[in-house]
Amino acid sequence: MTAPINLLDLTPAQALARLREFAAASGEPAYRAAQVVRHLWEKPASDFAQMTALPIALRSALAEQFVIPRLEMIARQTSSDGTEKFLFRLPEGQEIETVAIPEGGRLTLCISSQAGCALQCAFCATGRMGFQRNLAAWEIAAQVREMALLDPPIPVTNVVFMGMGEPMMNWSAVDIALTTLNSPQGLGIGARHITVSTVGVLPGIVALAERPEQFRLAISIHAPSDELRRELMPVNVKYPLADVIAQAKTFDRRVTFEYVMLGDVNDAPEHARQLAALARSCRAFVNLIPLHEGGALEFKGSPPERISSFARTLRDAGVEVAIRKSRGKDIAAACGQLRVERLGRGAPRRPNEHGQVNVA
Ligand code: SAH
Repeated sequence: MTAPINLLDLTPAQALARLREFAAASGEPAYRAAQVVRHLWEKPASDFAQMTALPIALRSALAEQFVIPRLEMIARQTSSDGTEKFLFRLPEGQEIETVAIPEGGRLTLCISSQAGCALQCAFCATGRMGFQRNLAAWEIAAQVREMALLDPPIPVTNVVFMGMGEPMMNWSAVDIALTTLNSPQGLGIGARHITVSTVGVLPGIVALAERPEQFRLAISIHAPSDELRRELMPVNVKYPLADVIAQAKTFDRRVTFEYVMLGDVNDAPEHARQLAALARSCRAFVNLIPLHEGGALEFKGSPPERISSFARTLRDAGVEVAIRKSRGKDIAAACGQLRVERLGRGAPRRPNEHGQVNVA
């Protein structure tokens, strides 16, 4: 017997084609294929048994040839500001995290693309764990699917690849996951509401640019010169700033620069002026990110006044800039923190006056 096919690891169109073949081979009407596809992402069912519109015999025939795996949720923490953090255990035991951030009428889901990360940015907790493995396409998209399977469900309107890992180092899986996230037969999230964040892995930026959909690109800049950027982000040796900027210029949609504010490291007025020149050269929007100190013990965040004056310098130089609100601080919702706490610092955080902690 051949191994069952994982329907979630195919794009919805591929799953439909595969299920049509199955229907034809087993004498089922062709519309059954579309019915099953609807239960993969649009109205997700937790398994075939839950697809109650299908005859029982068909459900068990499907279960013999196909699987629709779940991610195992092992922890869920809720912040006082409404941010929620989920920890999922993958089939081989690695753990990844997903963060749900409500803001007005939107719900942004921050998803992981790798378990761990090889890139070792100096201030990032995920880097400290090292690289474990790439996520499969289904494991990336299923982070959104799992939100729809909660009771009550969490309706996701926006997705950002800003959880664990470097999406462009796992492009083949991210490529498929983008299709599933965006496709109307998949999760139906508009391409402009999906942002891929990268340290500047050039082939990945090229591949994203080649997709016809309007997916958004965010680039982690964090330093306006090679000298400083090399210290903070070892990847700058392979992909120097000038090359990243040149690539960003060719991207035909608006690019966002992410810039984490590190006290006395990259937050001087001169840095702001240099960054402004880079941002202007590719008409980038700059997002200033207050440091989550949990991930970066040897750094301190820039004081709020410093961040505002840095922002003002950029604005005065004609650059559009926003200061990102820090969310989920009380549950350590920054890059990789939950996992570091569980693995490196003993038990998960206990509930405190600000946040309730649920460990499933
Ligand atoms: N690897 C990708 C996406 C994951 S990280 C990237 O680097 O872009 C998402 C963002 O969180 C990046 O901009 C990253 O630099 C930032 N980040 C990492 N650690 C952080 C910390 N301790 N505080 C604030 N932002 C952090």
